[in-house]
Amino acid sequence: MALQMQIIPVTPFQQNAALLWDDVNKDAVLTDVGGEADRLLGAVAKHQLKLQAIWLTHGHLDHVSGVADLIARQAVPVLGPNQADDYWLQALPEVTANYGFPVCQALTPTRWLQDGDELTVGEHTFIVYHVPGHTPGHVVFYSQANSLLIAGDVLFRESIGRTDFPGGNHHDLIQGIQSKLFTLPDDTRVLSGHGFMTTIGHEKAHNPFLR
Ligand SMILES: [Zn+2]
Repeated sequence: MALQMQIIPVTPFQQNAALLWDDVNKDAVLTDVGGEADRLLGAVAKHQLKLQAIWLTHGHLDHVSGVADLIARQAVPVLGPNQADDYWLQALPEVTANYGFPVCQALTPTRWLQDGDELTVGEHTFIVYHVPGHTPGHVVFYSQANSLLIAGDVLFRESIGRTDFPGGNHHDLIQGIQSKLFTLPDDTRVLSGHGFMTTIGHEKAHNPFLR
């Protein structure tokens, strides 16, 4: 059995939404439904998957503003981020209007996530790590068996998340990456919220923000 992944960049910000599925029982989840619910549900249908949940890394509009539209068409639980990002989710009507996104309503997830929570897609388990700094409630999802980290806007190829938004904290971000992500195996594949994939080993060696 294998975990499959399709990366689907959404919104003008080209945010990497991911469709993850277990290719044996066809259970699937979508991460960071930033927009374009039609396209995301189209991918679910194309692979004949059973969508079980939406997982959210953090409350920024390009990661969450397609959720209301998607769950109106297909009711699935929304898991994450950590509750410290509630102020971002409640601000969605203003934030989406300010950025010229389709205006969406405030969002309250089905369940907030905590450091150490375990989520599953079919037979595959992901551990939740709470890594504040880009936003205070940012979480990431790690599957040891699949050497895969869904990193949102914490860590990018040779870069890190911005910390200049309200609630951002550079020190917390660096601390969280060093203590929670750089302790993962070097061959861990990292799917960031934007841009190319990388690995933990590559970032330890080449990320200029983490020397
Ligand atoms: Zn963000």
